[in-house]
Amino acid sequence: MRHFAVVGSGPAGFYTAEALVKAYGDQARIDIIDRYPVPYGLIRFGVAPDHQSLKAVSKRYDKVAEEDQVRFVGNIDIGEAVSMAELRDLYDAVVLATGAPHDRKLGIAGEDLPGVVGSAEFVGWYNGHPDFADLAPQLDGAHAAVVGNGNVALDCARILAKNHHEFEGSDIVGHALEALDRSAIRTITILGRRGPHQISMTPKELGELGHLEIATPEVEVADFPPIDADDALEPGHRKSITILRDFAARGADESKARRIVFDFFAKPLRIEGEGKAERIIVERTVLDDTGAALGTGETYTVPASLIITSIGYQTPRIPGVPYDERGGKFANDRGRIADGLYAVGWARRGPTGTIGTNRPDGYEVADQVAAAMPPGSDGGKRGAEGLAALLDERGIRSTSFDDWRAIEAAESAAARPGSPREKFVRHHEWLKVLGG
Ligand code: NAP
Repeated sequence: MRHFAVVGSGPAGFYTAEALVKAYGDQARIDIIDRYPVPYGLIRFGVAPDHQSLKAVSKRYDKVAEEDQVRFVGNIDIGEAVSMAELRDLYDAVVLATGAPHDRKLGIAGEDLPGVVGSAEFVGWYNGHPDFADLAPQLDGAHAAVVGNGNVALDCARILAKNHHEFEGSDIVGHALEALDRSAIRTITILGRRGPHQISMTPKELGELGHLEIATPEVEVADFPPIDADDALEPGHRKSITILRDFAARGADESKARRIVFDFFAKPLRIEGEGKAERIIVERTVLDDTGAALGTGETYTVPASLIITSIGYQTPRIPGVPYDERGGKFANDRGRIADGLYAVGWARRGPTGTIGTNRPDGYEVADQVAAAMPPGSDGGKRGAEGLAALLDERGIRSTSFDDWRAIEAAESAAARPGSPREKFVRHHEWLKVLGG
């Protein structure tokens, strides 16, 4: 018998557990451990609340959690409640699937002013992440800016641009919906340091901006290279550029109250304001031969009392685990960190790729684990039994998959009309359901 711990219950963690079940059958026990009492990581806290079809993938993860060999063990912070050394002592292999939930910083003056938030914070706020429930983003000004040209920047801009009615069917948390209902924001500027050809936005997500009820996208025709240049693009990317070109050709719909302005070739220099963010100073750029943004020295001001930096994420460190500073992830070789210690998903590769990209990742690491400790072998580890003893000793209450089902039922029962659930956000709300 082999005992495995997967740390993190987002897509990467669940695909790894699924792959380990396939590789080992009844010859392994797998604990999926999460610091929160509830599972699914990115699916619950990261995927946009108005993208419910993407969230449906959690049904597949439910099936994994229901396997006899698999347990969900929530409410356990590895590095705090249990150390990495203790975990490695208890299990034959530990797989880190901790994602990349921390914002990368722009590193410019004024970034710490009130009114400036990272996309992980903003997304966490509207998605019911307990760490960001009290964020209270600045929604009382007329102007917001989102820095970055990726899909997360699009998510943030779209959430700011929608009216109440457009959140029907979503699971946006009540506190965010109420605040957004009162929002005074009319202009959302998306700042890209490079041009339209260099965006990291996918067609479906970009296309949504063309169908908003009270907001209109604005793109400058002059920002594009000649249309022939699109021929060299990969087809999916070309589709995104075609959508952008279409926005530019159509022009803004003046009948709509909110504008989403694409400001390309705009590199943030500093954020200014009296005690809070009021504006962002940007420098016009041109692209050099390698496609990098070069400042031209020409600067201008974009008014914004809410500034969301959406420029990528980092994996939080865990004491005792080697870290790749530049990549913002665990130092690893194709997922292997050390004997018996692996990383998958964004903790392995850095914050790129869709939910599905994590599947081959998890399977590849499970193959490596199976090659190092063949099914049928025994490592003499205590696994779940040892973890339970340790938690008992420390008076720590973990949550099970059945506990999650109880929380899920209570969230569904509390849902406002048209919403699949009303997410509980704070520890005491979760534990109340469990009689704690
Ligand atoms: P991303 O796709 O890597 O985009 C990051 C953006 O930040 C890029 O446009 C980058 O510009 C810009 N940036 C980086 N450093 C900057 C700086 N110092 N100043 C100005 N701009 C800077 O990251 P993401 O949007 O966080 O998304 C993460 C992953 O999740 C992606 O793979 C994404 O597709 C995926 N995702 C998917 C969905 C969906 O499918 N619905 C939704 C959300 C996220 P440069 O190109 O110039 O570096």
